[in-house]
Amino acid sequence: MTAASKIDVFISKESIEKRVLELAEMINHDYQNQEIILVCVLNGSFIFCADLIRHIKIPVQVEMVSLSSYEGTESTGQVSFRLDVKQSLVGKNIIIVEDIVDTGLTINFLLQHMKLKNLKSLKLCSLLLKRARLKIPTPVDYLGFDIEDKFVIGYGLDYDGRFRELPYIGVYGA
Ligand code: 5GP
Repeated sequence: MTAASKIDVFISKESIEKRVLELAEMINHDYQNQEIILVCVLNGSFIFCADLIRHIKIPVQVEMVSLSSYEGTESTGQVSFRLDVKQSLVGKNIIIVEDIVDTGLTINFLLQHMKLKNLKSLKLCSLLLKRARLKIPTPVDYLGFDIEDKFVIGYGLDYDGRFRELPYIGVYGA
């Protein structure tokens, strides 16, 4: 049996494509005649961010950040930067692009950090949210899918570094 045969499709490739386009259209609408910087939270968001940015029709830049917070399937609750944005973000419209908000600890660490930077605006775009798992109230301005409490993989999301390449979001060993 291959590893892929143990994975159930949870959100299809087609559903993801449709929703990513809808999110990009919301962003295009909200930031008409403005410029934005997408801050892609590595590694899990790289595919989502790459697909999203290709539907953006306004001037856009992309920056990468990397945070460490997870080992295996459980959050350690300890968040730190592996990589921070290099350019000044003062006066800029920032949209953080995240793969999944689970407890919210990771993204709230980043949001607090960003709030100190004298931005013009700050919004959060997340492909997935496990609302029932939130430990900190976390408004998601652009949300792909509100999902139940399952450990998901694919479309950038990994399990111990694997399965990011899957074109759909799946549940491993379900
Ligand atoms: P939080 O700090 O919100 O609990 O966790 C956020 C991070 O945990 C995400 O950016 C992601 O890296 C990881 N994570 C949380 N839930 C899942 C999940 O269901 N699948 C995968 N692959 N990663 C998850």
